[in-house]
Parts: sequence; C-alpha cells; structure tokens
Amino acid sequence: MNGGDERNGDARYCAGCTACCRWPGVVTFPADAVGPLADYLGMDERACADLFFDIADNRGQLRTKKTTDGGCIFVGETGCRIYPHRPRQCRTFPYEWQRPEAACMAQCALHKALKRRA
Ligand code: SF4
Ligand code: SF4
Repeated sequence: MNGGDERNGDARYCAGCTACCRWPGVVTFPADAVGPLADYLGMDERACADLFFDIADNRGQLRTKKTTDGGCIFVGETGCRIYPHRPRQCRTFPYEWQRPEAACMAQCALHKALKRRA
C-alpha cells in the first residue's frame, strides 16, 4: 500500500468527474502490473499488454497507449475500468502532483477541498 492509498480517506471529496483521467497524457505502470490486470479483465496477459501498453521511454515500465482524445485508455463512461488496479500515479492524484496549472486541477473537487484544508 502506498502513500496515496493511505490518504484515500479524502476520496470522499472526489466528485468522480474523471477530469484527471481525461487530461491528455499517458499513464505509467510497473511491468509486473499486466498479469493481475489481465486476470481482472479476463484477458490473456499477452493480449492485454499488446492492447493497452507500450514500453515506456525508460524501458523499465509500461505506459498506456495514446488515444484519439488524449485521455487514459482505461477511462469509461462512469470512471476507471480498472480502478482496483490503477497505478500509483493515479492513487496519488492530486496529493503528489506538482502541476497546479493543469486544467484538471481547476476542475478537481478533491484538489479544492485539500486547498481549503491547507
Ligand atoms: S488508470 Fe484509471 S484512474 Fe488512472 S488515469 Fe486511467 S482511468 Fe484514470
Ligand atoms: S479530477 Fe479530482 S474530483 Fe475529478 S475524478 Fe479526479 S480526483 Fe476526483
């Protein structure tokens, strides 16, 4: 369990708007995340890796494939389709993010709540 998990008590302030998931960019996963993720999705591991991931520039991790609208490949109508398996960068949003200028920060109810409490 990482720091983000421990602070998920603050998730009661999350509006579930998915702005953070639709912010253009890629999401990075550890290479060993594919097996559990494939099991969760009921997919073959190789097919899961090929469908959703590319090798990250650092070659030690995976990154989500880019989508036409720039949002995360795993976001669906009602939110994250792999929520129990979302990676650390998602679990720690917005706590550890240093990008206050990002558009999704302005929309983020959780970020606003944390600022009010600061
Ligand atoms: S993995 Fe899930 S929580 Fe993370 S950006 Fe994608 S849809 Fe959002
Ligand atoms: S942008 Fe903020 S309020 Fe919206 S889903 Fe993400 S964490 Fe929750």
